[in-house]
Amino acid sequence: MSTQHICSNADLHSHSCVSDGTLEPEALAARAKANGVELWALTDHDELAGQARARDAALKLGLPYLTGTEVSVTFAGRVVHTVGLGFDMHNEALREGLHSTRGGRGARAQQMSASLAQVGIKDAYEGALKYVGNPELISRTHFARHLVESGVCNDIPEVFRRFLTEGKPGFVPHRWAGLGDAVRWITQAGGIAVIAHPARYPFTPTEEYALFTEFKAHGGLGVEVVTGNHSAADVVKYADMALEFSLLASRGSDFHSPTESHTDLGALPDLPGRLTPVWQALQDRVHHP
Ligand code: AMP
Ligand code: MN
Ligand code: MN
Ligand code: MN
Repeated sequence: MSTQHICSNADLHSHSCVSDGTLEPEALAARAKANGVELWALTDHDELAGQARARDAALKLGLPYLTGTEVSVTFAGRVVHTVGLGFDMHNEALREGLHSTRGGRGARAQQMSASLAQVGIKDAYEGALKYVGNPELISRTHFARHLVESGVCNDIPEVFRRFLTEGKPGFVPHRWAGLGDAVRWITQAGGIAVIAHPARYPFTPTEEYALFTEFKAHGGLGVEVVTGNHSAADVVKYADMALEFSLLASRGSDFHSPTESHTDLGALPDLPGRLTPVWQALQDRVHHP
């Protein structure tokens, strides 16, 4: 009943082929279980189509499950990701908000392809499409896979160093959801909004402070402290920020693929003990086997 208090291996951030991961939701559930995850959430970008499959597969394996998504947000002219956890997956306003958020991806992908063509990389749209599992969710990751597969780059990190990011070929500015909209969709669907992988944003300290302040003002309650790309120093920094802003702390690998992700499902350090885990506040939202 109150086992969530002592759950330490929660992994509340991961992607399936319903967005830009490579595994089916069922395969992810099995991998999470095999890796010792005790509470799991699938958090596909801007999309809930994998939720019922992930939950059903997890429960069959005896793995407690929280609903999840990762909403793309534009804040201060940059992309910020907001993870939503423990919401009602049938909530209409949330579903409509995510639908509108992913709506521009097709046209954006065509523009990305045109931009890559200008530096001699032809038919990147068609190439990226080969990796797409959900036609509404073509992402930069699918272009990255194509650029590796076709020999333009050696690996995915090289793609994001040379292409697809601000100032580089293939980058197309895009207007995602507003921060307040994303937080409200999640919260009004009964969930908790969490700032995803905060160390990844190129913000100045002032901008970062503004992000946390506005996120709180909109009703956001959590921050990822332990996540795949956080260093030990990042964990300390965002543990301090969680305490300063009275935010619940989350933990998630951001796993996308067995061959691309350096952090496997559940293979993360523990949350620092001085923090309140977000799953403590979500106990009545957990789907139990
Ligand atoms: P999009 O939502 O289409 O803008 O694509 C964003 C996705 O690209 C992220 O969710 C990551 O999966 C991937 N991505 C972005 N930057 C990097 C990076 N530097 N290295 C690897 N993957 C990245
Ligand atoms: Mn991704
Ligand atoms: Mn993200
Ligand atoms: Mn993610």
